[in-house]
Amino acid sequence: MKIVWFRQDLRIEDNPALAAAAANGSILPVYILDDVNAGDHAMGDASRVWLHHALTDLNQSLKGRLRCFRGDARKILRKLVLELDVDAVYWSRCYEPWRIKRDKAIKESLSSEGVEVQSFNASLLWEPWAVLKQDGTPYKVFTPFYRKGCLSASAPPRQPLPKPEKLSFARASIESLAIDDLGLLPAIDWDRPMLQHWDISETGAQATLTGFMNDRLARYKAGRDFPAVQGVSRLSPYLHFGQISPHQVWAAALQREQDNNIDTFQSELGWREFSYSLLYHFPALPADNLQNKFDRFPWKKNSKHLRAWQQGMTGYPIVDAGMRELWQTGYMHNRVRMIVGSFLVKNLLLNWREGEAWFWDCLFDADLANNSASWQWVAGCGADAAPYFRIFNPVTQGEKFDADGQYTRQYVPELKALPDKYLFKPWEAPESVLKEAGVVLGKNYPKPVVDLKASRERALEAFRSLKSEAE
Ligand code: FAD
Repeated sequence: MKIVWFRQDLRIEDNPALAAAAANGSILPVYILDDVNAGDHAMGDASRVWLHHALTDLNQSLKGRLRCFRGDARKILRKLVLELDVDAVYWSRCYEPWRIKRDKAIKESLSSEGVEVQSFNASLLWEPWAVLKQDGTPYKVFTPFYRKGCLSASAPPRQPLPKPEKLSFARASIESLAIDDLGLLPAIDWDRPMLQHWDISETGAQATLTGFMNDRLARYKAGRDFPAVQGVSRLSPYLHFGQISPHQVWAAALQREQDNNIDTFQSELGWREFSYSLLYHFPALPADNLQNKFDRFPWKKNSKHLRAWQQGMTGYPIVDAGMRELWQTGYMHNRVRMIVGSFLVKNLLLNWREGEAWFWDCLFDADLANNSASWQWVAGCGADAAPYFRIFNPVTQGEKFDADGQYTRQYVPELKALPDKYLFKPWEAPESVLKEAGVVLGKNYPKPVVDLKASRERALEAFRSLKSEAE
């Protein structure tokens, strides 16, 4: 029998490991929740909820034959190989440093015992070691990485594979866990409201893709920055867990090429590839500033400010709307991620790692590569990052990208009746306007936790101190 070890490829279609194993006899589909090797990068709470439902759906597609385990994957696979008649183990490659280290060790150990081990690319359009500059070093700037390294110098992404025609399952008498026993769901059901926004299944992923291609791709370039508009695909959690592959998404976009400008959308998939390339070539990305001059940056410690940010109670309505969207839906629109990120690291002067950790715990799409690369980008210390001195102004960002306040009013209903003119700066509203809108600052909506102008100056000063120290 062949073990198909599912990891971040929780789908049946376009799954090269499953297709190869199924073409050659009977399979034993396995999932292992390996918090042992994950260490600091064990999944956050929201991801666990998503995983529970994704595994349930996968198990249904596999006619209830998915065998689940919890613990050190090295030990569990070895036990399976010793106790069952296993001649091969197939899996799709992952790119997190801890997984690469673990998987190499597993491959060596199983191969030395005569078990065939094969890994496949199921998650990236271009694998990180294949896209290098002419001198053999990795790209650190997005545009040449994507335009030159991926689009010009590399083969185009492969076509997606169909579902295997037939799956025959091996009989295996070995103890395994029910999905419920993996302990992925929370003890109190805070996840229920979040789940209403998603269909966590492979068909849900395909329906999301089709809906986006039919209704939103044509308007993507114009609409992707406006959080109240249904302008983006919301495919990120499906891509993270591999319920859909980037190859399927890329191929679907290509089919629409004639009628639409697909370049902007494709280049966002390119950013995902870039993050993975950064993580692969700079494995300390989740922990260390890519630009090491930021190691001396005078970050503040302020648990009150951090809590206000986490709870969407900063007194800056667009920031609070974003943080509450995250809490209520497990997702936040990209434009708002940039606004709340800038606010945390620049206006509050809190370390980007605090933001990264909160997102890691709360996002359904929490992804080590995308999350750490994006936070470093926001903080200005990453590769090809937004310059530190570019500080988003949460008032003008709100006025520009949520002009009629629809998004902000949805998540900050306390301000629902405030006129547009003051929605993003309620502290400037005359007392009579606040009264009429039922807003009492400091009572039913917070006063701003920091002054915008002073905090901006403080951030620029901190950045300048960094420069002068380096000189
Ligand atoms: P769409 O606009 O429809 O884009 C399609 C796909 O392209 C996305 O699903 C995603 O896979 C990829 N993509 C889009 N934008 C980016 C980007 N800037 N960087 C990398 N890939 C991108 N994305 C995650 O998947 N996981 C994270 O943990 C994550 N953390 C982030 C933290 C911060 C501070 C910021 C600013 C961004 C973060 N992103 C993260 C990137 C981006 O915000 C999300 O990928 C995007 O909002 C997902 O929504 P969508 O699927 O509708 O995107």
